[in-house]
Amino acid sequence: MDYPDRAQVSADILEIGRRLEAHGYVVANDGNISCLIGPDRVLSTPTGVSKGRMQEDMLVETDLEGSVIRAGTKAPSSEIRMHLRVYQENPELGAVVHAHPVTATCFAAAGICLDEPILTEAVTAVGSIPVARFAVPGTREVPDSVAPFCRQYNGALLANHGVITWAPQLELAFFRMEWVEMYAQATLITRYLMGRSNWLSGTETQPIEEIRRRMGIRLGGEPVYAADSPNVEDVLPRAGLVTPEAADPRTQALLDGVEKLLRQSEERLERLSARIARQAAAQAADMLRRERGAADGGEIR
Ligand SMILES: [Zn+2]
Repeated sequence: MDYPDRAQVSADILEIGRRLEAHGYVVANDGNISCLIGPDRVLSTPTGVSKGRMQEDMLVETDLEGSVIRAGTKAPSSEIRMHLRVYQENPELGAVVHAHPVTATCFAAAGICLDEPILTEAVTAVGSIPVARFAVPGTREVPDSVAPFCRQYNGALLANHGVITWAPQLELAFFRMEWVEMYAQATLITRYLMGRSNWLSGTETQPIEEIRRRMGIRLGGEPVYAADSPNVEDVLPRAGLVTPEAADPRTQALLDGVEKLLRQSEERLERLSARIARQAAAQAADMLRRERGAADGGEIR
């Protein structure tokens, strides 16, 4: 792995701190950012400072065990252990961002993972995002809770806490934080407000998976996909007078389906009554023949 220049990383950490605050992904002194600057060197944000107001001399340089190599004017964050564990678990990763963006944090609080294939960007750049079990902040349980996901996913929702994302490069780890929050907002709106969404189908997620591979994105988990998807036809705007049923194309599709079912059962019923009528006519003819035979003095067979 090539390691980025320390001075550049310092400037980038400060810039990403400002962007986290500008996005509203952190309040008070929340959140932390770290980046590898050598095989056993990590530069990270300290404790007790707003991420939008950091200065370079506040940043802390540690080794992968957390021992301070170069102290800053502020103490290291207690959450740095979670970052260090990510680097230990997956040597391909070079940067970690942790924040509390509201929507994704609400999914973490509700224990709902992000896995609905509703956005191409989310499937490509992020993939599915699991919920890591609850761990008391500041304890060893926090790194342990995140560890199982570092080799398979691009981040995790921390139960009742917030979000962590990682990547080989710092800016990509931050972009993933943005995508996770966007993905959470889109899931919230489609699933809980609109009550509907067109899931990408297997034939649609396959080429996206191919793009991911070409981009060198190996993490993200196996995507779920729909057996088929109604997004393959244009949805055209209506004009003129529309009936309330036609106002919702899905209601119309449902009505069409019900109509088809009714038509099929009517046809089945017609075929059945025709068969019963034929059988009844055959029985009546048979009875008539037997009665005639009896009247003619023949034996009933
Ligand atoms: Zn936190």
